[in-house]
Amino acid sequence: MTFTRPERWYDAYIFDLDGTVYLGGRLLPHAGETLTALRANGRRTLFLSNNPTHTRAEYAERLTSLGVPTPPADIVTSGVVMADFLKRELEPGARLFVIGERALEETLRDAGFVLVEDATCEAVIASFDRGFNYRKLQIGFDALRAGARFFATNPDKYCPVPGVDGGAIGGQPDCAAIIAALEASTDRRCEAVVGKPARQTIDAILALTGAAAGDCVMTGDRLETDVAMGLNAGMAGALTLTGATGLAAVAASTIRPTYVLRDLGDLIPR
Ligand SMILES: [Mg+2]
Repeated sequence: MTFTRPERWYDAYIFDLDGTVYLGGRLLPHAGETLTALRANGRRTLFLSNNPTHTRAEYAERLTSLGVPTPPADIVTSGVVMADFLKRELEPGARLFVIGERALEETLRDAGFVLVEDATCEAVIASFDRGFNYRKLQIGFDALRAGARFFATNPDKYCPVPGVDGGAIGGQPDCAAIIAALEASTDRRCEAVVGKPARQTIDAILALTGAAAGDCVMTGDRLETDVAMGLNAGMAGALTLTGATGLAAVAASTIRPTYVLRDLGDLIPR
């Protein structure tokens, strides 16, 4: 397995955030220069995160404070995709029980849904939740056994975070763990996981690019979400080795990225 970089420019460049553009509070190597160079070259840059623990506005602020000025409209999260998806699936004002964090709750409330803390909900929304506990599991369990719909924001097993004392990259258990807890304790299966690589997210991002899929490249640090989504959408799929995936995992996977990058600097054609 060797590194491969694009020999052409694309019209739109879509980036995952955690492990791709930054890790913790720091930009990853060459991320800032690459984004600046792409924009200077007239290319569209968009950001697509499966992590719904921040709102679009918060992600925009974070990128801007790291030296990459970005408007909220250029950011899509699995929370934003979930809100749009639920508007099509449920009645306006439907009651939701959300196993997730503040930003997701805000996004769903802003979309007109009513958040409840009991099993009378019409749908259980599983997500990345660092406040997950037995009470939440019990409510989700009761609601699913009573027939509530069952959706989840993203399929990620863990979210990459900086390692302790500068060691190997660490992680926080993500939405896959919450889905698994609900499925393991009930006879229910999650009906839809809307984040990358799902169709719902592909449609949301293509609507923003203003470009044909073949003129877009999706770059991320995960094969099964970022790269798979790009390839499924008919885009180029670039894997960057700055986050959750190492070279050994690339060799072992059936997902074949169009490009394997050392870091985002490799996206710029020579
Ligand atoms: Mg990532």
